Amino acid sequence: MRPETIALHAGYDCDPATKAVAVPIYQTVAYSFDSAAHGAALFDLEVDGFRYTRIGNPTSAVLERRLAELEGGVDALVVSSGQSAMYYTVLNLIEPGRNLVSVPQLYGTTHTLFAHILPRYGIKVKFGSSDRPEELESLIDGNTRALFCETVGNPAGNICDLEALAAIAQRARIPLVVDNTVPTPILMRPIEYGADIVVHSLTKFLGGHGTTLGGAVIDSGRFRWEQLGMRYPMFTEPDPSYHGLIYTRHYGEKAFLGRMRSVFQRTMGAVLSPFNAFLLMQGVETVALRVERHVENARRVAEFLRADARVDSVSYVGFPDNPYYPLCQKYLGGRACSLLTFAIRGGYDAGTRFYDALKLFKRLVNLGDAKSLACHPASTTHRQMSPEEQRQAGIGPETIRLSVGIEHIDDIIADLDQALAAATRPQVRQAVTT
Ligand code: PLP
Repeated sequence: MRPETIALHAGYDCDPATKAVAVPIYQTVAYSFDSAAHGAALFDLEVDGFRYTRIGNPTSAVLERRLAELEGGVDALVVSSGQSAMYYTVLNLIEPGRNLVSVPQLYGTTHTLFAHILPRYGIKVKFGSSDRPEELESLIDGNTRALFCETVGNPAGNICDLEALAAIAQRARIPLVVDNTVPTPILMRPIEYGADIVVHSLTKFLGGHGTTLGGAVIDSGRFRWEQLGMRYPMFTEPDPSYHGLIYTRHYGEKAFLGRMRSVFQRTMGAVLSPFNAFLLMQGVETVALRVERHVENARRVAEFLRADARVDSVSYVGFPDNPYYPLCQKYLGGRACSLLTFAIRGGYDAGTRFYDALKLFKRLVNLGDAKSLACHPASTTHRQMSPEEQRQAGIGPETIRLSVGIEHIDDIIADLDQALAAATRPQVRQAVTT
């Protein structure tokens, strides 16, 4: 089935007990065992079933099935936030003393995780100075265990050349891990281009209404851990923390998430609540329609800003003179995402006056809500970075990031127009009296 249909139907027909058509919210912590033997069989993973909601829940399981199918993967795990999805993914792949190679254009907190938190636990992250595949390949060494990028960077809007990165990862015999939050599987399905693991913040376009935090990890099932046991022994050797289970033997092509669930979700517990899984599923049902409108509104906004003399520059990959335009055609079918950045004439001061004058756009740190949102990355999401790191992430002190919503386009443009007028109006200096 196609994504629009998968988003509505995958993983659920109707409730077997009641015939309820909407997915029920199984707001329960635990599940009763028929007998001691049944409990033991569940804990030995000999039979399917639920034991405790930290490890799995029927409502979340429907969302997992839906996301796995949307991305074309074999399995998914949902967790409490995009950040916990990132953290679990790295921990599941990379042991102390090993490293990760990453593009520099990252969401600010992912950058903080990579640059400041992981090294404290012995995991080094080597950043390229750009997303150029040749440069990233030159950073890979014998201890590298994964290659990472955001398919479309937040906020830089850069589009990674996934086929080229997948070829590099394949040569190095490491998985390509991507964060596909910004385009969503509606605009791009990275597994089709060779990605091995896909990470999502469900908080953004997939949830789509700015109400609920959530994250997901989806496995393509294609990486052959069993052939690379020397490098990834955690999947191929007995795990003493799970009475000697060998994940590749037990889970086959689902070994990556089998281990993530049994080890990290079980012991660290960044669990998505069943109610939040339900809310996020409501968003997933309409994601295709919303993304279509987001994309069209963003195109109109980009054109409006570019034609306006009060605006200095607009970074929008849908413009033919944007360096990422060819990759936008190739990977997004020409549908540039609704996240765009621009700089107003007059630098930082004019930028903040513009930001303060917005009425319809919300001033905040979020993206992918149905509502139009504006963010000033240098003072918020990317504040912990040095000016050089900010530049590499694609932002300057004056950059404003817009996440264009699905309101009527005339209302969106009217708000930008009045805020530009307020920002560029000649400033009257207050007389100083002594
Ligand atoms: N990945 C990207 C690209 C993001 O933009 C964000 C948040 O903005 C995250 C991950 C983190 O997601 P969450 O806020 O759900 O933890």
